[in-house]
Amino acid sequence: MIEEKRQFKKERTFVMIKPDGIQRSLVGEIIKRYERMGLKMIAMKMLVPTKEHIEQHYTLDSEWRRVTGEKTIKEYKDKGLQPPSEDPLEITATILKGLKKYMASGPVIAMIFEGAHAVQIVRKVTGGTEPLTSDVGTIRGDYVLDSYQLSDNDGRAVRNLIHASGSPEEAEMEIKHWFKKEEIINYRLVQEQILYDVNLDGILE
Ligand code: GDP
Ligand code: MG
Repeated sequence: MIEEKRQFKKERTFVMIKPDGIQRSLVGEIIKRYERMGLKMIAMKMLVPTKEHIEQHYTLDSEWRRVTGEKTIKEYKDKGLQPPSEDPLEITATILKGLKKYMASGPVIAMIFEGAHAVQIVRKVTGGTEPLTSDVGTIRGDYVLDSYQLSDNDGRAVRNLIHASGSPEEAEMEIKHWFKKEEIINYRLVQEQILYDVNLDGILE
């Protein structure tokens, strides 16, 4: 049980600022949002990914093509709109093509954040995939105005500033895909004491 709790606080998630985040000078703004929640950045680098690396990234989860296609069809239908195709795999083939072009178009910033509920907390503050419907107050909801309808019409991936792992399992695969072991730094942040310490006995003099 104690062992489980310890792992919990060390949950890791992979976050990437996509080329539009960098082009719009939102790097500091985006990182601040995760940092101020108490998450610890344990790796970071800027790079221009290859299209191959991007395709591998999105297909690390063998279900991604089907699940994302089905999700897209449902989101169109929920809005009373006609999806671009009824075939989930056809939809994701187009999305993947757009994603490769988008993500390899310029530098991105790849990062790992660690802390309690890192995956879920990052997804919450990042906001839903489609900026049109992302909640106000989230990064995607506040800083970008794209939609599936607009991006699909223009035959490109929706521009939503950030990639963030969807589950701890996805995070583990993505971290391995983007970082070597020696690029990840294990260290202590002083604020972890107030975030996680049970007894709070180190404050008063
Ligand atoms: P995420 O985890 O919130 O980023 O969303 P997904 O894993 O479902 O999709 C990955 C990425 O594919 C998204 O961030 C978008 O850039 C793109 N994408 C997903 N669904 C669609 C879609 O229906 N249309 C378009 N044009 N792009 C999409
Ligand atoms: Mg995803």
